[in-house]
Amino acid sequence: MKKILVLHTGGTISMSKDATGGVILNEQNPLMNQNELFQGEIELVVEDIFNLPSPHMTLEQMFQLKERIIQGIAEGIDGVVITHGTDTLEETAYFLDLTVPKGVAVVVTGAMRSSNEIGSDGLYNFMSAVWTAASDESRNKGVLVVMNDEIHMAKYVTKTHTTNVATFRTPTFGPIGMLTKGRTFFTKEVMPEEVCDVPSVQGEVFLIKAYAGMDDQIFNLIHTEKLDGLVIEALGAGNLPPAVLPGLQKILDQKIPVVLVSRCSNGIAEDIYAYEGGGAGLRNHGVIFMKGLNGQKARIRLLVGLNAGKSAEELHRYLES
Ligand code: ASP
Repeated sequence: MKKILVLHTGGTISMSKDATGGVILNEQNPLMNQNELFQGEIELVVEDIFNLPSPHMTLEQMFQLKERIIQGIAEGIDGVVITHGTDTLEETAYFLDLTVPKGVAVVVTGAMRSSNEIGSDGLYNFMSAVWTAASDESRNKGVLVVMNDEIHMAKYVTKTHTTNVATFRTPTFGPIGMLTKGRTFFTKEVMPEEVCDVPSVQGEVFLIKAYAGMDDQIFNLIHTEKLDGLVIEALGAGNLPPAVLPGLQKILDQKIPVVLVSRCSNGIAEDIYAYEGGGAGLRNHGVIFMKGLNGQKARIRLLVGLNAGKSAEELHRYLES
């Protein structure tokens, strides 16, 4: 019988609607005792590690989750399921993807409707995540996000809708598999990736979004003595308004890593355009182009790279790979 470690962290999946219609945290997680759903085929080892709405999730808590998973792997569990609020689910999933050794399947899930709402998707997503974590096919694929019968890579999945149950999508590449009646069906291979089991998660990395008419005021307002890295969601294929450049250059001159991704939800930021503020010039000035990640995940990768004790050159390679 497969043994699956279930770590509940909170979020709508563990909440319910009260008499006033507000969605609130429960003292007792409604998903705590669900062993009978798996009819003696899977044994659940369940822990309520946190009970948080996911906007309260911090890097320190992601780190604690990572440590608990690694301990579980050493104890011989066959798979891991994490239930999580959907707002920051993709960040926790990607942090774990970068830091937990591949092998045992780690699956993150959540819900868009709380436990006592009509059409609640929590129990169903939970069940799907457990089936996925127990499937031999899910091994060695990195952290997976399972919602609404789809299986996504933590690296590229993102929350795209405020309320729809089909909110989790993988722009550009699509999901890597699906579930049909409790069975996993994968359609894509996952490329191997470096794993950095970081000893800490320290550092200040800001995320800034570019817009038409932007200048460098916001860059000049940053206390660079407290800054370890910066992520910019740039325009289109990877460009910035020229008025941004003087303030940005001051940050680059201090050898603070500046990472660029696109604010477009599809595609990859590249150093194509050679006009003032274009990607070609930005890259020549030391801006690091990260491929295919959104801003919030680029920030997680930069933080992991910074905590992995890499030299400037190794960090550059890690971020651009
Ligand atoms: N705001 C909630 C949270 O992220 C939404 C959810 O759980 O889906 O915790």
